[in-house]
Amino acid sequence: RNAGLGSWPARRAAMSPGVTALIFGERRTTYAELYERTSRLAAALRAAGVGPGDRVAYLGPNHPSFVETMFATWMLGAIFVPLNFRLTPPEVDYQLRHSGAVALISAGEVQTEVGLHVRLADLEGFLASEPAEIEEPAGLDDVACILYTSGTTGHPKGAMLTHGNIIWNCYNLLVCVDVASDEITLVSAPLFHVAALNQCLLPTFLKGGTSVIMPGWDVDGCFDAIAEHRITWMFGVSQMFAGLSRSPRWPDADLTSVRSLMTGGAPVPEALIRAYQERGLAFCQGYGMTETAPGATFLEARESRAHIGSAGLPVFFAEVRVTRPDLTPVDPGEPGEVLVRGPNVTPGYWNDPAATAAALTDDGWFHSGDLAVVDEAGHHRIVDRTKDMYISGGENVYPAEVEAAVFEHPAVAEVAVVGVPDEKWGEVGRAFVVPVSGASLTPADVPEFLSGRLARYKIPVYVDVVDDLPRTGSNKVRKGPLRDLPLPTPA
Ligand code: ATP
Ligand code: MG
Repeated sequence: RNAGLGSWPARRAAMSPGVTALIFGERRTTYAELYERTSRLAAALRAAGVGPGDRVAYLGPNHPSFVETMFATWMLGAIFVPLNFRLTPPEVDYQLRHSGAVALISAGEVQTEVGLHVRLADLEGFLASEPAEIEEPAGLDDVACILYTSGTTGHPKGAMLTHGNIIWNCYNLLVCVDVASDEITLVSAPLFHVAALNQCLLPTFLKGGTSVIMPGWDVDGCFDAIAEHRITWMFGVSQMFAGLSRSPRWPDADLTSVRSLMTGGAPVPEALIRAYQERGLAFCQGYGMTETAPGATFLEARESRAHIGSAGLPVFFAEVRVTRPDLTPVDPGEPGEVLVRGPNVTPGYWNDPAATAAALTDDGWFHSGDLAVVDEAGHHRIVDRTKDMYISGGENVYPAEVEAAVFEHPAVAEVAVVGVPDEKWGEVGRAFVVPVSGASLTPADVPEFLSGRLARYKIPVYVDVVDDLPRTGSNKVRKGPLRDLPLPTPA
């Protein structure tokens, strides 16, 4: 029997044909309709020459066509390559060439040499008039997707995820989150990123729930969607949840339909978790990365109050180790690198054996590049990325800890801290803060607020009050551009 993800639309259409699978603005698509449209798209792609193992790329903001293209690709036994539509044309061109895409479906104009290029505006005409029963067999070890990483620390890397990786990740998620057949999931993050796709859309699909797809992230649109559709569950990176809780609409927003919320993908300040828990919401944290499909550790909702700030325990079907550079295990409380092994872990980067060899050991352990501490109960606290740590006067400083302390200030909407060179201390901190709209905040407020809350060496020497922060397509702060800015005078 075909074990691949391409079999899902047919099975779901048989099990829950009349249930709404997707909501996008005024458009509602049932599982039966989704299967029909996906089959017609698969038939058209096959007629145009797409076959097993070929790469089919999608470029555009969140839209039901993303989902149709993905499943049609899998029905054909082909590999789906969702691209970040915020990339520049040369970056898109690079990813199309690197993945060797034979077909591209795009929302906008793209200069490309890809053989088959269908624009969204022409998609209806492209679909075959009749659905065809297409189900090329795929095994769990066959590659289903090439997902490019967020590019937070450099160039995005093309992680291969197999059908098995994605399915095991769904199981891992369902063990910890009670995604139900009556779930109404808000897909608020971009679908080209692993979290929206594998933590929200696909588990909801597997259970036969409804995904409400937002075309893009905006705070007001999110409040509106939650109220209009009675959203029960959503995922967001911490920057998105901070946007909601520091919005003027927060005190009066109707969040009564929400059963639980999940964050991950970036450091999570405890003040953020508390803001949600004070409203009676189950707000929990997961930790993971594109390469682990993505869940690696998870905090169950029922544990979320007892372990605020924890990213939880290793997911059910994977192993997690936290080690010193010599690979010996750390002691409780000692930061070490997170390593992950299991059926959700990528077989490697597409067409990049050097990067694969650098990240994956021969016995299957993936090196995350992230630091965590483990407490006596086995709970993981994500400290920061190894690359973001800096050393001030011989002491390690983890920017995520400093950011969490700055975020306690009620006038701070967003904050990012980086290490910058310093003659006396080697490196010192530089904080970029975005004030809450309408609030007044001066650079000097920040060190004054931190004094007594953080050790002297952790308090940023430079503070910039800014309007916004540079972000990835998945809404994470890109620290590289911040590190490169010329230094102002000390606060
Ligand atoms: P790139 O690898 O291209 O630099 P990226 O690592 O941001 O980008 P993703 O795969 O989207 O790409 O993100 C995974 C990373 O997100 C993790 O390695 C970790 O640094 C961070 N992360 C994920 N969950 C958490 C969390 N709960 N707390 C802190 N950081 C997290
Ligand atoms: Mg990464």
